[in-house]
Amino acid sequence: MQPADRSEGMTMDLDFTAEERAFRAEVRSFLRDHLPAAVRHKVLNGICLEREDYLAWQRVLHARGWGGPSWPVAFGGTGWGPVRQYLFDDACAEAGAPRLVPFGLKMVAPVLMAFGSAAQQQRFLPPILAGEAWWCQGYSEPGAGSDLAALRTRAVRDGEHYVVNGQKTWTTFAHYADWMFCLVRTDPAAKPQRGISFLLIDMSSPGIRVRPIRTLDGAHEVNEVWLEGVRVPVANLVGEENRGWTYAKFLLGHERSNIAGIGIARRELARLKRIARSETGDGRPLLEAPLFAARVARVEIELMALEITNLRVLSAEAEQRAPGVEASILKIRGSEIQQEIFALMTEALGLQALPYDREAMAAGYAGDCPLPVHARTPTSQYLNMRKLSIYGGSNEIQRNIIARSMLGL
Ligand SMILES: Cc1cc2nc3c(=O)[nH]c(=O)nc-3n(C[C@H](O)[C@H](O)[C@H](O)COP(=O)(O)OP(=O)(O)OC[C@H]3O[C@@H](n4cnc5c(N)ncnc54)[C@H](O)[C@@H]3O)c2cc1C
Repeated sequence: MQPADRSEGMTMDLDFTAEERAFRAEVRSFLRDHLPAAVRHKVLNGICLEREDYLAWQRVLHARGWGGPSWPVAFGGTGWGPVRQYLFDDACAEAGAPRLVPFGLKMVAPVLMAFGSAAQQQRFLPPILAGEAWWCQGYSEPGAGSDLAALRTRAVRDGEHYVVNGQKTWTTFAHYADWMFCLVRTDPAAKPQRGISFLLIDMSSPGIRVRPIRTLDGAHEVNEVWLEGVRVPVANLVGEENRGWTYAKFLLGHERSNIAGIGIARRELARLKRIARSETGDGRPLLEAPLFAARVARVEIELMALEITNLRVLSAEAEQRAPGVEASILKIRGSEIQQEIFALMTEALGLQALPYDREAMAAGYAGDCPLPVHARTPTSQYLNMRKLSIYGGSNEIQRNIIARSMLGL
């Protein structure tokens, strides 16, 4: 983005520079040549990706030198600033590329870079970049979600190990994971935030059980993780014992980066329009029916407004100004807009949206299906999208943040 011109009271410039536009063209061209058609088909049609789909894509990006879009060059990343990262994410979403798995790349990696030992950085960072290791996030527990500091999973020092006992829940893709970064209580006598440590746990350790939680859409993304007498080498403690809360909060800041999901929303809005063009009501395309068209227009305008807010945040970040409370606005509006787009898709499909059966499709059902391809997944995606306003700090919690920091309530 161009430097802000303050001479006439302007604080931002939302135009991309010639270099940035050239960069975007380069990314688009790379995606045209290297994104496998089968994976693209899955993403564009809302079909679930497998572990290998994600990892193989990470390896393709790594081979191009783009494996770590948000990583500094010193750790093998691209060294891109926030604008290039945005353009990259946007082009990937538009092309139907798998989203980068955040748990390794965007969550544990920044913590290791900032607080890990040199040995931990050398051991754990390269496999993340190379698409050889899958991480999961062991924060939430029954009774400790929004109030994360209430977590009770206990780690007790025993010689050169910690012995961990407890339960994590909602752990996304724990069944794919090789490693879990985990918050554990090491000092139960201290104030809640003071007695927490940040451990790296090998998911193949004896004493770990992963049990699926089926979400509304019938999918298996999240899990319960039970830890019973799990021995974790002390070398896998990140930073200092009992300072895990500091690292956890640092990580949450990264979790919320690019949370608005503009690129994905724009791609799904285009899909909504395709569906509304091919479905009819009263003998004409639904997209020409005034009431339905008005609702599509409304969500499109809201998305455009959100994109401007997102660009304002990027403009601030490019000038080294911290985004602050805008991250909460992006989270709330971004999740609501995506939810609305899928709600409109299911409405456009009407009765056709009902017979979807994810388990049959996941099991490879390829028999006769009376539905057009575009009608097969929006219902499950509509149900799945309910999660957006819960994870990454629920929308109610984000509203609390806005109320406190912006409105002084
Ligand atoms: C699909 C999905 C994937 C997830 N993946 C992971 C993961 O990989 N790793 C992980 O550690 N966690 C994960 N989570 C957990 C997620 O972070 C928590 O669900 C979230 O923090 C909310 O916590 P909770 O579910 O315990 O709800 P609670 O905290 O019990 O909240 C229940 C309701 O009360 C509201 N509420 C709570 N406190 C307040 C308040 N102070 N003011 C106003 N309203 C409030 C909440 O907004 C919510 O609506 C995932 C969750 C989902 C749904």
